[in-house]
Amino acid sequence: MVILVTTKSLNSLAIMGGTFDPVHNGHLRTAVEILDRFGYSSLKLIPCFQPVHKGKPGVSPQQRLDMVRLAISGDARLSVDAREIEREGPSYSIDTLKNIRAEIGADTPLIMVLGMDSFLSLPTWSQWQELTKYAHIFVVSRPGWEPDLISELSAFCEKYRANSSYELQCAPSGRLWFETLTPLGISSSMIRSLASKNESIAYLLPEPVQEYIEQHQLYR
Ligand code: ATP
Ligand code: MG
Repeated sequence: MVILVTTKSLNSLAIMGGTFDPVHNGHLRTAVEILDRFGYSSLKLIPCFQPVHKGKPGVSPQQRLDMVRLAISGDARLSVDAREIEREGPSYSIDTLKNIRAEIGADTPLIMVLGMDSFLSLPTWSQWQELTKYAHIFVVSRPGWEPDLISELSAFCEKYRANSSYELQCAPSGRLWFETLTPLGISSSMIRSLASKNESIAYLLPEPVQEYIEQHQLYR
């Protein structure tokens, strides 16, 4: 008897969008834990050009992109994707997902990673109910943010929540998963605030990024 086992997840792609103003160890640790624990082959960090839900970033898109490049140079599974910056204008995730889906084809699992804070704001996103057409949504814990789901989101969770994270590797899109990772209470706002007070930002982000911030006197 021959038993055929198919692993459809070989080409799965995870993506993490953000302002990365600046990128920090909370983003990076989240990315590597997801890659190590869930068997996705690669993860793209996608810095936005213009965030839709918050004010203008503290530094230029090019500088935020440079810092992500410096941050990921040690792990070949991580890459940076500049499409939102090249597209300019407000960075809507739905446009990015449609774009990536067209590139990777209909069958490849695509996983959009969101911290709990971002997930809770989902009902304010453009065409948010359409996002699962193009990708799975993988929500990670974030210190200070509890899954206090308002009604619109609870219906969404009921509809799309997967029973096992394995479902996110089998289907190309359409499932929702919540995961608790190592809690790191680091945020870009915290780093900007420390830098503005001339306090140390060491150990919150990779050294090359810290050096870049100091060299260019960012967030002063
Ligand atoms: P800011 O304080 O300026 O909002 P941030 O630290 O939240 O910055 P973003 O670029 O806004 O960073 O976040 C990009 C994505 O990474 C979001 O989905 C966010 O929820 C997630 N994220 C950021 N920091 C963490 C963290 N420490 N742990 C888990 N997820 C995080
Ligand atoms: Mg944020």
